[in-house]
Amino acid sequence: MSPRKTKLEPRSTSIPRSLIKLHNTADALVRERLWLQVLAGMLLGLVVGFALTTEANLVSRSDAITVARWLALPGNLFLAAIKFVVVPLVAASVIRGITATGSADTLRRLGSRIVFYFLLTTTLAVLIGSGVAYLIQPGAYVSGSLLNATLGQIPAAEIAQSHKSNIPDAIVALIPTNPYETLVAGDMLQIVIAATIIGVAAVCLPDRHTRPFLDLLASIQMICMVIVKWVLRFAPVAVFGLIAQITSRVGLDAIVGVAAYVVTVIIGLGALLAFYSALVTLVSKCSPVRFFGSIREVMLLAFSTSSSATVMPVTLKIAEEKLGIDPAVSRFVVPLGTTINMDGTALYQSVAAIFLAQVFGVDIGLQGIMLILITSIGASIGTPGTPGVGIVILATILSAVGIPSNGIALLLGVDRILDMCRTAVNVTGDLTACTVINRLLGNGFHQFQPIAATCKPKG
Ligand code: ASP
Repeated sequence: MSPRKTKLEPRSTSIPRSLIKLHNTADALVRERLWLQVLAGMLLGLVVGFALTTEANLVSRSDAITVARWLALPGNLFLAAIKFVVVPLVAASVIRGITATGSADTLRRLGSRIVFYFLLTTTLAVLIGSGVAYLIQPGAYVSGSLLNATLGQIPAAEIAQSHKSNIPDAIVALIPTNPYETLVAGDMLQIVIAATIIGVAAVCLPDRHTRPFLDLLASIQMICMVIVKWVLRFAPVAVFGLIAQITSRVGLDAIVGVAAYVVTVIIGLGALLAFYSALVTLVSKCSPVRFFGSIREVMLLAFSTSSSATVMPVTLKIAEEKLGIDPAVSRFVVPLGTTINMDGTALYQSVAAIFLAQVFGVDIGLQGIMLILITSIGASIGTPGTPGVGIVILATILSAVGIPSNGIALLLGVDRILDMCRTAVNVTGDLTACTVINRLLGNGFHQFQPIAATCKPKG
């Protein structure tokens, strides 16, 4: 962002010196620091959003909805502009990421290790989630009256409908039958699968047959990243409006009744972040302060937008520019991780399932825990990185374990807040994966040049 001169001169105005100093210090701090601008936008959004809630009682509900809708306009434009590049960027990045491995053998070796890493961290996330849910027992804090009031509002059939799925058909539907249709529909998992098939085919061909195609994809990638750079300039205004709208919708009342559940999920996500810190420190020799300092912008953006798929281009930019990850690694790991690695979502789903089991007094036992583990891992792979899908997929997990899925009604009021938190963790998980894989397997991706140093924040 180009620095703007907004320094106030003491003699040129009648404003008191102390105020001028304060203004200049704040201005110097905020200028050039996008994350700080985003944070400021977020806090301001929180204040304005709270002023629009029914609890604050400053404006009528219908006025509050209209104002919030207008406030969210820049944010929605921002999201639309980033979404514009997601499909071509994911397709181009996965294909080029695969071909960067150079040979089918190297690809098999690296690909299986990366998928193994994703499975391992997701399993750990589910174990952390189950552990904190058993320790804190959030279900014990829900009053019978809250349960009756909430379940009375939404008929069970309505919720049950959202997860009527036929697993064999869903598996067949994963394979794209028409590449153009897949791109137009923007189904991330299908795009990654289609791109993987094309990438693997390309890696099996001699370089001279694939070079023009790969050069075209490289151009697409570069153009997309320039667009991302432009759009990012509007992040603080976008975040302000989005947070204001969410706060005005959620309010405080929704949180109070299920506060123990919210706290349990947040503690679990905090523990997962601590695990990531340990991982980057031990494996990549990168201090957690540097790591989180480098990725704070994208964490804040993920938090504000609740969509890891939407911020994927920014995640990629941060991985390469701030963490110094080899593009050959990041362009493979980030799109893949965004699609199949959702540790925050898996952790949240395990807490939510155990919480509801406690609320309904269902004894799920060890077998139930194992089922939650397997279904949460599977679900997090199939969950698209868009707002609020984690809770829809949760219904499938609940019915697999035998917990009444209309209990989801109890979680709906606070889901947006938890969605924001788990999305920030999902993105952090992908960047941790990038840092670790760059360190451990980076050379495999870059056959001819030494890899860039991991965790080398710039700017
Ligand atoms: N919003 C999450 C994400 O984009 C997915 C979820 O709902 O858990 O990563």
